[in-house]
Amino acid sequence: MASSKLAIRGGSPVREKAFSIRNTMGKKEKEAAMAVLEKGDISLFFGSPGPFFLGGPQVIKFEDAWKKKYNYSHCISVNSWTTGLMTAVGAVGVEPGDEVICAPYSMSATATSILFYGGIPVFADIDPVTFNIDPKSIEKKISPRTKAIMLVHLFGHPAAMDEIMAIAKKHNLKVIEDAAHAPAVKYKGKYVGAIGDVGGFSFNYHKHIHTGEGGLIVTQDPEVAQRCQLIRNHGENLIESMNISDISNCIGSNYRLTEIQAAIGLVQMELIEGYIAHRNKLAKYASNKISQIPGLTPPTIQEGCEHAFYVYAMKYEENILGVPRKKFVEAVMKELPPAQIWEQTPFVEAYIRPLYLNPIYQKKIAIGKKGFPFSMNPSVNYEYHKGLCPVVERMWEKELFHCPLIREAVNESDVDDVVNALEKVVENIDELRG
Ligand SMILES: *Cc1c(COP(=O)(O)O)cnc(C)c1O
Repeated sequence: MASSKLAIRGGSPVREKAFSIRNTMGKKEKEAAMAVLEKGDISLFFGSPGPFFLGGPQVIKFEDAWKKKYNYSHCISVNSWTTGLMTAVGAVGVEPGDEVICAPYSMSATATSILFYGGIPVFADIDPVTFNIDPKSIEKKISPRTKAIMLVHLFGHPAAMDEIMAIAKKHNLKVIEDAAHAPAVKYKGKYVGAIGDVGGFSFNYHKHIHTGEGGLIVTQDPEVAQRCQLIRNHGENLIESMNISDISNCIGSNYRLTEIQAAIGLVQMELIEGYIAHRNKLAKYASNKISQIPGLTPPTIQEGCEHAFYVYAMKYEENILGVPRKKFVEAVMKELPPAQIWEQTPFVEAYIRPLYLNPIYQKKIAIGKKGFPFSMNPSVNYEYHKGLCPVVERMWEKELFHCPLIREAVNESDVDDVVNALEKVVENIDELRG
């Protein structure tokens, strides 16, 4: 180590050379996209009965490839996972006034997708070890109006599916899995995404693989699959030709993936396992060292689970180190080169603010100005106050910090620098006190 004086106090940093950024688009992706362009059929979707209601050949091939590779009975591609989540919520039959028990530590769309069908997100707390929705908290939030559970496999670690499915069975609830961080991840031998009624993945730029924008809904249930197809593509026009008896939530939108994106996705999907293996190797390497550093706790992988390491999340203990997390993360960041983009950032404080602290819940103004959908059950006062879920708030305010850097573009020697920066700041923590 060049200097024991912390960089934030004028010492020399652990590393100055910028970390590499991944470019996941290769020759094969370009060829696949060009082949579609040359043919000219950039999208063949048609929003009425006929052969192209389900899209063109690349879209069908992409969906079939996921079915085959990951044993999903049905896959429905969409133009984003945000629209995929909305589709899933509609397809399981969420109606205005239905409550959906939801994870508060996730990307905003996990919960907002519920609001678009008039459903009301009811937030359960998280487990402090996996950061996923806590089944014990779910049980406490069940009411006669509960229709579904919306969970996320946060950072790529599966939620407690056995416990959650048992609760769902007991109370006759649907289960939706936001698996945006966890493609190709198994929970007790089964791929996540379709262990519940429906779930799926995101293909935006930041996710393991991407198609620019895009998403994929997965399910083992043929009826849910059909309803997803209707919502994706103007289902209202298909009601008669397909003899749909329950026409609720069949109004469709245009959530269609293009042929170019599907062609790129077909190439990209071959990369997922390699990326996950690389991230697991680096994560294990980092965790072996970080577990020796007082005050820091590396992520765990629970028995029967795999981890996709969308990000590598750690815990910080102020009680042991004697300075707040903010000061610590600032000091560590000064030891490492500045980042241009999120993927190149060694450390980020917390993850997101717990979703219920967003103004749409605080003010209960989501769809229109009159309080819909919260106003659907006038006898219930929906709670979104600070303090509602103490564990998630503790993670957000004090304990959790994450490393988006542990990805394809870095290697073990880069991880050494990151760990050295943590070690250096911990060893010299006295310089940050007072
Ligand atoms: C990225 C993400 C989404 C949304 O996916 P998009 O494809 O960007 O619409 C939803 N949930 C989680 C947990 C995500 O990380």
